[in-house]
Amino acid sequence: MELYKIPMTPGAFLLSLNKIFLRKFAAHSNDHSMDFRDRQMHRLVENQTHAGLRKIGEKIINKERILFDEGVLLFEKADLPYAGALANFVRERLHGDKTYFNRNFHIEPTNVCVFSCAFCSYSRLYAHRDEGWELSMDQMMDIVKKYDGKPVTEVHIVGGVHPKMNLAFFAELLQKIKSHRPDLHIKGFTAVELDYMFRKAKLSAEEGMKILHEAGLDSLPGGGAEIFAPEIRKQICEDKVDAEGWIRIHRAAHQLGMHTNATMLYGHIEKYEHRVDHMERLRTLQDETGGFNTFIPLKFRNKGNDMSQVPESSVIEDMKLYAVSRLYMDNFPHLKAYWPMLGRQSAQLTLSFGVNDLDGTIDDSTKIYSMAGSEELHPSLSTTQLVALIKQVKREPVERDTLYHEIRNYKDMDLTAMAADALYN
Ligand code: SF4
Repeated sequence: MELYKIPMTPGAFLLSLNKIFLRKFAAHSNDHSMDFRDRQMHRLVENQTHAGLRKIGEKIINKERILFDEGVLLFEKADLPYAGALANFVRERLHGDKTYFNRNFHIEPTNVCVFSCAFCSYSRLYAHRDEGWELSMDQMMDIVKKYDGKPVTEVHIVGGVHPKMNLAFFAELLQKIKSHRPDLHIKGFTAVELDYMFRKAKLSAEEGMKILHEAGLDSLPGGGAEIFAPEIRKQICEDKVDAEGWIRIHRAAHQLGMHTNATMLYGHIEKYEHRVDHMERLRTLQDETGGFNTFIPLKFRNKGNDMSQVPESSVIEDMKLYAVSRLYMDNFPHLKAYWPMLGRQSAQLTLSFGVNDLDGTIDDSTKIYSMAGSEELHPSLSTTQLVALIKQVKREPVERDTLYHEIRNYKDMDLTAMAADALYN
């Protein structure tokens, strides 16, 4: 059966439960305006018996910032319907039902890496590089050329930290991609890859970033952030760039007018305080520069790595994490669920817990999460399938470019017609 014909996934079912919960507070009314939603939220918050959680609810309604201890309190004490309803309120206040995606593909130049992060299922040390892959310049350009004539708008380039792929090598790759296809937005390199490249080239973050930006790098993804707190970082990824280094690199990109994203790897050995500390540091940089587009929580997966004994978080914990993220990251315009990592049904569910972006079509071009045990072994969705996923949970699918300029709104597009059109498949 085609995806767009599936009547009800677990995600859609749980979404309907969430809507039933909200209707409890709705009195009998057909008024779905924001005023009505405001009144719903006032009733929800007034009915909250925990004084601290009630205060948080009042702050959210009044667009006031919640503080560190309140972030921790939400994780500790808020039940999922309360946190979820508040997060959904914020999401709809910012974006209505709009749910963004893009048409993109990845290039993973190598999985050979000088580091050995305990949670990583993807990398191979240089001594074992025969078990991994190292793409040549020509092989990477062949991947780019495969998309000639196709309506993709972004290439996402990330990989291991290879000791021999240096700044000059990647600057040349960027120039070649731009001269082949100038309209393709290049989002590339985690702060971990960049820190290593810049240090080897004996350049500051500002100098190195300027070289790559001039070579064609348009924006940065958010990877490598993991959890900033040093006591956790020491246990899961001791030897790679620390929090200050990660922030320095993103600040350097923002100062050049580039936009970047930020991630957080959650659900392993971190405590609630570490999550909030992580979000606090990102929120502070965003206050300073305004250069972040999107916050992307990444779920720890436990297959094929040195932390296989650590259980994965439940779907309930995942949704709570997304909800608290939406409430805490008040200066981040977008919250993304990366569907290849969560699986498409959980990703659908996040759209009721603060998320307004599902990343992109991907086209089976990343192995990072399939090697860590994700359900998505060959992550790829056609535009029709992504639109169907979003419509199934009664949201409004909007194709965007990397910087969130709207390309097309699919609200009124007929799925059967889309499925028959090569442009969307
Ligand atoms: S997470 Fe990144 S830096 Fe760490 S081992 Fe894996 S590829 Fe290397």
